[in-house]
Amino acid sequence: MTSVDAYAAELLEGLNDPQRRAVEHPGGPLLVIAGAGSGKTRVLTHRVAYLVRTGQAGLGEILAVTFTNKAAAELRHRVGDLLGRSTKGLWVATFHSACARILRVEAEKLGYTRQFTIYDSDDSKRLVKRVLEADGADTKRFTPNGVRNQISDHKNRLRSVEQAQQLAAGQYDRTVADAYAGYQKQLVANNAMDFDDLMGRTVDLFERYPDVRARYRNAFKHVLVDEYQDTNPAQYRFLQLLCMDDPMHQAGPSGGGGRDATGGAVDAVSGEGRLPLGQDALTAPLAGEEPGHRNLMVVGDDAQSIYGFRSADIRNILDFEDDFPDAEVIKLEQNYRSTQHILDAANGLIANNTNQRPKHLFTDLGTGDEVRVRALPDDHAEARWVVGEVERLAGEGVPLSQMAVLYRTNALSRGIETALTQAELEYQVVGGVRFFDRAEVKDALSYLQWLHNPANTVAFARVVNRPRRGIGDTTVGRILSHAAATGTTPLDVIKDPAAAGLKTAACKAVSTFAEQVAELHETLAGGHPEGAAADGGDLRVADLVEDVLRVTGYRAELEASTDPQDEGRLENLDQLHAFADEFDEEAPAEGDAQHVLDRFLQGAALLSDADRKADNPDGQVTLMTLHNAKGLEYDAVFLVGCEDGVFPHSRAIDSGELEEERRLAYVGITRARRHLSLTWARRRALYGPPQSQVPSRFLRELPLDALDETSPDALSGQPGGGMPTRGRRDFSSIGRVGRGPGGGAGGSGGGAANLAALGLKRGSALAGGDDDAPPAVNWRPGQRVRHVKFDAGEVVRMDGDVVVVRFDGHGEKRLIAGFARLEPIT
Ligand code: ATP
Ligand code: MG
Repeated sequence: MTSVDAYAAELLEGLNDPQRRAVEHPGGPLLVIAGAGSGKTRVLTHRVAYLVRTGQAGLGEILAVTFTNKAAAELRHRVGDLLGRSTKGLWVATFHSACARILRVEAEKLGYTRQFTIYDSDDSKRLVKRVLEADGADTKRFTPNGVRNQISDHKNRLRSVEQAQQLAAGQYDRTVADAYAGYQKQLVANNAMDFDDLMGRTVDLFERYPDVRARYRNAFKHVLVDEYQDTNPAQYRFLQLLCMDDPMHQAGPSGGGGRDATGGAVDAVSGEGRLPLGQDALTAPLAGEEPGHRNLMVVGDDAQSIYGFRSADIRNILDFEDDFPDAEVIKLEQNYRSTQHILDAANGLIANNTNQRPKHLFTDLGTGDEVRVRALPDDHAEARWVVGEVERLAGEGVPLSQMAVLYRTNALSRGIETALTQAELEYQVVGGVRFFDRAEVKDALSYLQWLHNPANTVAFARVVNRPRRGIGDTTVGRILSHAAATGTTPLDVIKDPAAAGLKTAACKAVSTFAEQVAELHETLAGGHPEGAAADGGDLRVADLVEDVLRVTGYRAELEASTDPQDEGRLENLDQLHAFADEFDEEAPAEGDAQHVLDRFLQGAALLSDADRKADNPDGQVTLMTLHNAKGLEYDAVFLVGCEDGVFPHSRAIDSGELEEERRLAYVGITRARRHLSLTWARRRALYGPPQSQVPSRFLRELPLDALDETSPDALSGQPGGGMPTRGRRDFSSIGRVGRGPGGGAGGSGGGAANLAALGLKRGSALAGGDDDAPPAVNWRPGQRVRHVKFDAGEVVRMDGDVVVVRFDGHGEKRLIAGFARLEPIT
């Protein structure tokens, strides 16, 4: 063995056979498909280092891509460690940053200057709004967010404006397509690209300029992709253009040409935007074109595909072998991350999905701790339990930096943050913003601050145009300078805007705002217009929060939106309401309203103090959503909020996207090395007042053998207490009201014996039997039924445990049959 070989061979040490094969793979398409924690990312980094050490590629000839900046930084770091030297020249990037880098050099070919601006999502939303307004569209119905998401979906599927217009079936689609046209024109006119353009434009560039494409294809002799299961059609096409012969040239003599500068997409792409990636008889390269090097290595796990809602296409990984008949496919089956009980839990859960490649993971790390499922009386108790466990594990020597609390939506972090703060434990919120730093929470608190202190100009400036009410920066500047000049407050100025020299239109907008503020001051003074705070005259901060959101139109604007992000914002505001509610309960109003508000704001400020030092050597507990946890690992993982409607999310239940939710649960479970706990709260204040909850169906899918002996008790939901329904989500009105017609008698809740006796190992919710699982109910299509909220309707069909009913007055709804308490109408 030569010294070079020995030097390279070091990189093969500590790898198992299939991992080694992947690292040594001679070239051509390679798919490493394997379950979580089996060393895919490790293989990818070792291969990069191996290519360099064996002289197959220079650092600058390798492109390694992934999805998040954190993951890209981690990849670079690992490669640097392996090589023992600087990784300068190596392209390790997210898809978007790689494209941005290419476009910074090539933008002129597409009619942009190199200094083009990149619009973030706020910028692009504003632009969409302007375009919609210019088109005279009703922005209540066609919300800028919703339309922007649809445009984004078109772009991710590489659909041009023309294709979007051709595909538009109804009025909504047509409005979107028109907005897309106007939006794209504006972007070009502004020399700007949005995030999706970075991908789409690079694809465009490569298709229109074969010479440019050839340059990059020759530059990157090897392309490696982590988390391949989450690629969308635009990313797929980008990889195809970088590595393969171009099947697009078969589309016609003009090749992929003929696109206009505002289209940003591929003409010949099918409606679904996906082309076969591989080479076949029809896809021989054009005369004179270099064949692609085809050195594409992708690693991923179909069971962890969790970005379908952002146009990612799981078929990219499932069909890889069809796309590349000559691809080498390597499976890894040994998991090096987790102990066996944790793996069993993951395997058992994911076995409930039908759309997947079967995989079986094993580990050498021993059985380890059993997985714990815990039911807590409410969300406070849940947060306290988690924090207690964090303290216990810390006492056993697990560093805080090795513990993570994961949740489905950001709104769930608030209770945990509060409990951690009370226990004086350091924490960080990854990929998100601490609860009290979130824009909508800050907006609402700024309203309270300004109501409390009209001289607080910072708070005033923050809220004066939120939601947008046509009060521009110039007007705000005038108000502030007039207040300063006259020694008054902005509140005084808006009461008499003409005195500040504002123009008529501005005066009008400001006066409307002044009226809203006056109404809020009335509430603060105890004269709640709807009497909610009138009992005893004491201020309830929760009511004031609600009034702020209602009177200012803040809540209404978010409610009218179809953007899932806005849904998240509403959840956060509901959380703020719940926080105020707790304050009202725990610290009954003493003193006048101003005093109460003062104490409340102080409390919130304490929790939002983002400047707390973070240099504790034991680090911090990490809090994040399940989506952000992909690829990471921790000694101890807590998965909180495991309740039907929370996780799986009600939206997923309603739309039947349970498999993606289950994959998300799989991602969460497989982050854990040694300790895993899943918790749910019997009552949770998530959407308005506390509601009874039922345990997540995913908990019931965990194999009992992997769980500790008290877990089965925690799988029993108390029958709902017939809570009055409230809230805007359909789900909040179901699943909490009792038994369906086929349900067993309510009762004591299934204990271990009960469940075990039923052999309920991997039982789906439909397996029935457990007192509190949704009972198996089968409605006959055509049956007339009555529902507590939606009244009379007709059963359309059963869809698993979901019954689809067309209600006479409410249209079609998807309800969980076992919980919906439908009455047959005979
Ligand atoms: P995910 O699907 O979650 O992204 P992954 O397949 O990328 O997981 P890695 O993160 O690469 O898995 O590896 C999981 C853990 O197992 C890491 O700590 C890694 O260092 C370790 N590991 C992987 N392969 C081996 C091996 N052959 N020997 C020892 N440890 C290994
Ligand atoms: Mg990985």
